[in-house]
Amino acid sequence: MSHPAAEPTPAVFAPGLLAGQVALVTGGGTGIGLGISSLLAELGAHVVIASRKPQHLETALAEITGRGHRASVVQLDVRDPERVRAVVDEVAAEHGRIDLLVNNAAGNFYAPSATLSPNAWKAVVEIDLYGTFYCAQAVYPIMARQGGGRIVSTSMTLHYRGWPLMAHATAAKAGVDALTRTLAVEWAPQRIRVNAIAPGPIPTEGVRKAFTPPADSGVPDLFAAAEEKMAAYAQTSIPLGRWGTPRDIANMVAFLASPAGDWITGAIFVVDGGEWLAKNAG
Ligand code: NAP
Repeated sequence: MSHPAAEPTPAVFAPGLLAGQVALVTGGGTGIGLGISSLLAELGAHVVIASRKPQHLETALAEITGRGHRASVVQLDVRDPERVRAVVDEVAAEHGRIDLLVNNAAGNFYAPSATLSPNAWKAVVEIDLYGTFYCAQAVYPIMARQGGGRIVSTSMTLHYRGWPLMAHATAAKAGVDALTRTLAVEWAPQRIRVNAIAPGPIPTEGVRKAFTPPADSGVPDLFAAAEEKMAAYAQTSIPLGRWGTPRDIANMVAFLASPAGDWITGAIFVVDGGEWLAKNAG
């Protein structure tokens, strides 16, 4: 894409800022997760990417290690709490610690609520909300033992105003917000900072597939629109005039993982170019 969303952000963090840290990033092999994994690795962390599909894992690993950074991958479905615990324990055993958990894995698709099947509802809520809880709960004893850690979950803004055809994902992400605040308070004595980031629209491959509304739904198919149309939407609907990039979200994760995040917990950072506020203002 040639609009400004595709332009790389200049490096803003000190080289080696996260040297020695170990980060576990769920869904870290594609889209926003890959942006997060790449930046954390660039800043010196060893990044463990966890998701289901080997092709996502292998491509991401090659990309990050090909640039000379440290990463490894592990196959994981975050809906399986026993497997989550086993993976977290393996990572801790291999690296001696886990400093940062990024709960980024999610599933999503448009579906009318009236006919949403129990399985479809369950799949999304289990990945987005249950998976976030299982991963957070699994890293808790490790972070508590080592004297602290950080958890950053990926939320959204669509549940702030309601979004048709997305009952499953909006409900799950509202749960992620609640979990973020509760765990922040509950685990502060262990010095585990728990925060979330609510991205605005970022045209990843995943979101382009997920956000294809049924033809008769009246919901605009923004991500399938031609490039000029997408750029025009950004100009008129996103106050800062462009779509987001994975790097926009990764920068916030890196900030929270750094010492600059020491006194921040229970916060949900909207990183969306002002999009949801502008939508609400109308
Ligand atoms: P994406 O590329 O589709 O990312 C989703 C990731 O989750 C994939 O890497 C996928 O990898 C992984 N995943 C899915 N199910 C999983 C499971 N059961 N266990 C483990 N991993 C699983 O989409 P994205 O746009 O980058 O989204 C990343 C995050 O940002 C999501 O939490 C999403 O809700 C949030 N978000 C995105 C936007 C946006 O506009 N892009 C806006 C707001 C919020 P595998 O297929 O290999 O498992």
